Amino acid sequence: MIPEKCQNTVIFVTQTSIRMPVAKILIVEDEPAIREMVSYALRQSDFELLEAEDAQQAYGLIADHKPDLVLLDWMLPGQSGLEMARRLRKDAPTAELPIIMLTARGEESDKVRGLECGADDYVSKPFSPRELKARIHALLRRSAPHIASPSLQHGDVQLDSIRHEVWVGKKQVEMGPTEFRLLRFLMAHPNRVYSRNQLLDQVWGQNSYIEERTIDVHILRLRKALGKKASGHIRTIHSAGYQFHTDLPTKNKKKSERVKRAKAA
Ligand code: CA
Repeated sequence: MIPEKCQNTVIFVTQTSIRMPVAKILIVEDEPAIREMVSYALRQSDFELLEAEDAQQAYGLIADHKPDLVLLDWMLPGQSGLEMARRLRKDAPTAELPIIMLTARGEESDKVRGLECGADDYVSKPFSPRELKARIHALLRRSAPHIASPSLQHGDVQLDSIRHEVWVGKKQVEMGPTEFRLLRFLMAHPNRVYSRNQLLDQVWGQNSYIEERTIDVHILRLRKALGKKASGHIRTIHSAGYQFHTDLPTKNKKKSERVKRAKAA
């Protein structure tokens, strides 16, 4: 028989081995020394790091790995960081990808140019790893709340990314990993409408080859998992897509919809 003390130890180990959701950071930088320094600093903070030495390599990594944030060097061989930022902003799947420009230029006019091209923030070289980490955390809190704060709650629905659990009120509900990711994405961007195509890019990744109607199947499963009442948060917006609405539909609205349907029939 295992002594009580050992049993406690086992429980402790299980709890600490739960994997934290980590942010994936892509660094696009041609100088190996800087990539190394950033890579070392970020791995210490539990970020997952992807590295590219030019824009072309970076586009491939973005499509395949969907980073949560890009650290983009201004001066790159081939396409410059500025041009790359401009293109990322123009392409729908990356239009909202958080970008921090890294640059040796410290002048105010350059900073303005960087921000005008779509960068969210700007760090001048030489920078301290501590400053960079603080900027990354601040930007992630604004742009990827599900990573910065792993617990999301709207109304009765609570999602815990660390424990990979979803609760509706006091009841834990079960759902598949795809439904979980879908719910997490929608809850992290509440009240915004996403087309099927956008959800494919954001939840499945740009290089996934699934049909748009597969989304409908997962939405259906998600609603079923949430149960009759809470599923009201997942709204279908006709010919636009889906959203997580923070309010549940009011009873009157439901009634008027029923009346409308009855009249139409
Ligand atoms: Ca450079």
